Amino acid sequence: MEPATLGGTPHRASEPTDKTDEQLLHRMRLIAHKIMVLSGKGGVGKSTVAANLAVSLAAAGRRTGLLDIDIHGPSIPKLLGLEGALLPGPAEMLLPVSFNENLKVMSIGFLLPGDREAVIWRGPMKHKLIKQFLAQVEWGELDCLVVDSPTGTGDEPLSIAQLVHGADGAVVVTTPQEVALSDVRRCVTFCHRVGLSVIGVIENMSGFACPECGTRIAIFKEGGGEALAREMGVPFLGKIPLDPQIVEACDAGKPHLITQAGGQTARAFRRIIEHILEGHAGAPAPDVA
Ligand code: ADP
Repeated sequence: MEPATLGGTPHRASEPTDKTDEQLLHRMRLIAHKIMVLSGKGGVGKSTVAANLAVSLAAAGRRTGLLDIDIHGPSIPKLLGLEGALLPGPAEMLLPVSFNENLKVMSIGFLLPGDREAVIWRGPMKHKLIKQFLAQVEWGELDCLVVDSPTGTGDEPLSIAQLVHGADGAVVVTTPQEVALSDVRRCVTFCHRVGLSVIGVIENMSGFACPECGTRIAIFKEGGGEALAREMGVPFLGKIPLDPQIVEACDAGKPHLITQAGGQTARAFRRIIEHILEGHAGAPAPDVA
């Protein structure tokens, strides 16, 4: 790990040094709110939260961008049913793909020739691509940019924390069991070290209500994310239950908040999103149903 990564104050480009830096500053000024979605461990539902947050913002009339910087495993195109979408516009321009009128999406998944393609890059290459996504994608004016960052505290989260000027902060997604929580502690510490404020922690896959008998089962335990938020002194945004319909929605490429807008899980999701919107992405919090 480079010494600048942890323990010290990371480099933040304050003066533009080249054309891309100037473009980056210009683009970031056109985006009112920037929210990073992070997690300490893979598979906890970070991309699912990022996709549903972006869809909710767009449904509430906010001009929204969703940037997937998961270079090794981009899942946003799949979650939004945009797999195989071609980037619109001429090759020399990087135009995002439209999910709907208010939601524009960019992912490395759109640049790969197929879903078997693997990106085998070291840190500097990834940093360059993330910078390009921020500086050269024609996002236009946005009310909010949601960034789905890869798991952990490595190259990509560090790059995004350094490159996004004036970020609102990070939403940290976890599951309740201790094995996931220890990585969330690192994730929160990472945010503190890179100067990214923590908007709050979401406890996902928290409890499961048996569809047959209604009995509540805590498959991955319950309450761990909430306790961790207390322990780390950061806000707790709420719990989302384990729900097979989320898996269905993700696999079908249809955001859960659109397909199951009236269900209990969607209500839990909406309460969390309203929490986020109260302080970020422009109040008042909308009813996104
Ligand atoms: P991550 O981005 O953290 O790796 P994903 O968002 O890709 O995680 O989700 C991993 C898997 O978990 C997906 O199959 C998704 O459908 C599923 N999932 C996410 N949240 C829930 C939930 N609350 N209940 C059931 N399945 C979920």
